[in-house]
Amino acid sequence: MSTPRLEVRLDLIEHNARTVVERLRPLGIAVSGVTKASLGDPLIASAMLAGGVSSLSDSRIENIERLREGGITGEIMLIRSPMLSQTDRVVDAADVSMNTEMRVLEGLSRSAWRRGRTHGVIVMVELGDLREGVMPDEAEAMISRTQDLRSLVIRGIGANLACQSGVIPDAANMTVLSDLACSIERSLGLHLDIVSGGNSANLGWAMDGRRLVGRVNHLRLGESILLGRDPVDRSPIAGLDAGAFTVVGEVIEAKAKPPSPWGSVGQTAFGEPLDLQDRAEGRSRIIVALGRQDLDVDGITAPPPLEVLGASSDHLILGTTLRPPPVGSEVRVAPAYGTLLRAMTSPSVSVEHLEDASGAPSPLRHRVHQSDW
Ligand SMILES: *Cc1c(COP(=O)(O)O)cnc(C)c1O
Repeated sequence: MSTPRLEVRLDLIEHNARTVVERLRPLGIAVSGVTKASLGDPLIASAMLAGGVSSLSDSRIENIERLREGGITGEIMLIRSPMLSQTDRVVDAADVSMNTEMRVLEGLSRSAWRRGRTHGVIVMVELGDLREGVMPDEAEAMISRTQDLRSLVIRGIGANLACQSGVIPDAANMTVLSDLACSIERSLGLHLDIVSGGNSANLGWAMDGRRLVGRVNHLRLGESILLGRDPVDRSPIAGLDAGAFTVVGEVIEAKAKPPSPWGSVGQTAFGEPLDLQDRAEGRSRIIVALGRQDLDVDGITAPPPLEVLGASSDHLILGTTLRPPPVGSEVRVAPAYGTLLRAMTSPSVSVEHLEDASGAPSPLRHRVHQSDW
């Protein structure tokens, strides 16, 4: 197998999906599996579906089209507001989209009408993170006007926190969403089938057993299923596996070297100051053929006794106090979310899907499951 590569353990993704689905089910919360960090990878989506997610979500229409081409037939949501220029593609590939602009809703309705179909709509409400959403007191008017657009079906309302400003989902902001759902239903005389509370950062709020989740009955989960981590503080979530993705690179140099550079010191290749304090004696330096051209090296964690000393365009420098891995051997490091995203988009990193720990590559077998939404 070639390096650098990203290994994906499909069994661990399925396990993580099943664990969050089963934990949220008693609260009446359904899970949409978010595939955007995988660029709409159909095998990863299938593993999420096998774990019981009721729909899939992605932020880009290109990724949703890739899921469709890969044989995924269940419900898919577009979770970034559709581009006005893409409404035809949105109604063709996605069943539901999240919206905040009347002009886009009108465009979606026209596109759906021309195709003789309907398109589901979730209106996103701003709850303080200052990314997408209409202000809470404007949501009812938007839904009321959307009712007049014949080819659209109002599926519900939603919110997204913990992205632009890091605002944490809590009882206060989730109660605003829940109460808003009730008041819209009452005054417009309709039923909102989805009240989508947010993303993986909502798990802390949802799993805090002391309070009720109100009308919130839906979460869109990506990072927790893929990396087993809570985006609020990137801590591992109990019961989930944080090892579904591994970056593998090849050692091209392994030598004992003096702990500090010599000669007069200017800027490093990427302009960062050199940390001269962190130069312990007796450490071997290992160069892995992996660099900023391949992925985001800042989000890499090396397993002890290896540690990351730095990286440039094409070299990842690791240190160890033990015997270094030999030239030609493979080194395995863990990617954070941003590194995963960039590795997936990188032309120089191959993606290997593995069925389980035996390392058997996944036969290109699409385990496609119909959504039971
Ligand atoms: C990315 C995203 C999600 C998923 O977020 P995770 O932290 O990966 O669970 C959910 N909703 C929206 C609108 C998003 O953009």
